[in-house]
Amino acid sequence: MHRWQTIVEPFRIHSVEPVEFTTVEQRTAWLEDAGHNLFALRADHVLIDLLTDSGTGAMSRDQWAAIQHGDESYAGSPSWYRFLDAVQNLFPFEHVIPTHQGRAAEKILFSVIGGPGKVVPNNTHFDTTRANVEYTGAEAVDLVIAEGRRPEVVHPFKGNMDVAALEELIAARGVQAIPAVFVTVTNNSGGGQPVSLANLRAVREVCDRHGLPLFLDACRFAENAWFIQEREEGQQGRPIVDIVRDMAALADGMTMSAKKDGMANIGGWLAMNDSTLAAQCRNLLILTEGFPTYGGLAGRDLEAIAQGLSEVVDSHYLRYRIRSTAYLADALDSSGVPVVKPAGGHAVYIDARALLPHIPPLEYPGHALATALYREGGIRGCEIGTVMFGRRPDGSEQPAAMDLVRLAIPRRTYTQSHIDYVVEVVRWVAGRADELRGLRIVDEPPALRHFTARFEPL
Ligand SMILES: *Cc1c(COP(=O)(O)O)cnc(C)c1O
Repeated sequence: MHRWQTIVEPFRIHSVEPVEFTTVEQRTAWLEDAGHNLFALRADHVLIDLLTDSGTGAMSRDQWAAIQHGDESYAGSPSWYRFLDAVQNLFPFEHVIPTHQGRAAEKILFSVIGGPGKVVPNNTHFDTTRANVEYTGAEAVDLVIAEGRRPEVVHPFKGNMDVAALEELIAARGVQAIPAVFVTVTNNSGGGQPVSLANLRAVREVCDRHGLPLFLDACRFAENAWFIQEREEGQQGRPIVDIVRDMAALADGMTMSAKKDGMANIGGWLAMNDSTLAAQCRNLLILTEGFPTYGGLAGRDLEAIAQGLSEVVDSHYLRYRIRSTAYLADALDSSGVPVVKPAGGHAVYIDARALLPHIPPLEYPGHALATALYREGGIRGCEIGTVMFGRRPDGSEQPAAMDLVRLAIPRRTYTQSHIDYVVEVVRWVAGRADELRGLRIVDEPPALRHFTARFEPL
């Protein structure tokens, strides 16, 4: 094993789907029709779709086989018990509440624990997490370490929470105002950066001292565990499953999108040890998602997730997964394209603010770059910056901490030559960065504006 440098995909391709080749003229017209919003494009007009790694991965033969075992009984389906076992094998929380995806878990939890006057700390809230906190009238506060806000700084655990800042927030706002402390693993909106076990322990210690519950936003728990195994002292060679259980043991509950490290196309869950809280959440679940043994999911989905959870903790898979992301980041970095360093687990983040210094944040440099990558090469990425986070709950608009373009890598989906093509297109666009212009928003909804806003180039 150790003689060979090349990390091969730990699978062969079993079934293929065609991609569509289009011209720059076609893509220019489609961008126009879409109001320059990449979410409004038809996916078959995209050649390489790096919009998200959420639900876009390839399922395995064994997952498709598991789907055939789906039992659609309304209550107490065997598929539910298979799902429950698979979840609790990794995250032994007492109560597991299945939802149709991660944001449904967030919506239920924050409806119960949020509300005006409340404040929720997180290393960095993901967009739907922030929106679900704020929708209840609560405040969402990001407390990632200083290194995590600086794209060019290399740090092994850039997703870590600033524990001193957490203490200060608790002192300033009072324990009563904080219904839970959240840590997102890996830190998606902060560059897909991992959180160390040591940091989780430090956060746990603060929570214990103040009697606060700690929740994980665990969407990429396996990728985070891989980084812990690689980078954290004393963790080398430990089984991934053990590291995941250590992460779980430090928390009182979790929210999860199975569209990430669940290796499925849909699904999620909410889990916790607090029985009173679980009862309140289940009441909302029944109102909005479904009966507690299926939540928002079909029995077949529960089966696919259960199987996916056994595949995602495989070391060969994780080595390939993390290395293929770093491959793209390294290639861009060596071409002089500014990227968030080190590479995240699921995505490469181009620092659009650094690449396009002539476009001010309120003219959306990330969005300008993302639309250019589509127009020139048919590649769809996602702005993570001022379009996504610039509109504050008080209605004002402020630059986000960073203006990034995220190239998210779907799991087990694209080959190395797809990625080589991406590198070629990004290099070409970056070489003409000074020709790109900013945009202005001509129409936007009250929340999560990046999904549906319409833009005009300046
Ligand atoms: C995707 C994601 C969510 C929301 O999950 P959905 O399944 O998309 O609703 C929440 N938090 C993080 C960190 C995520 O990456």
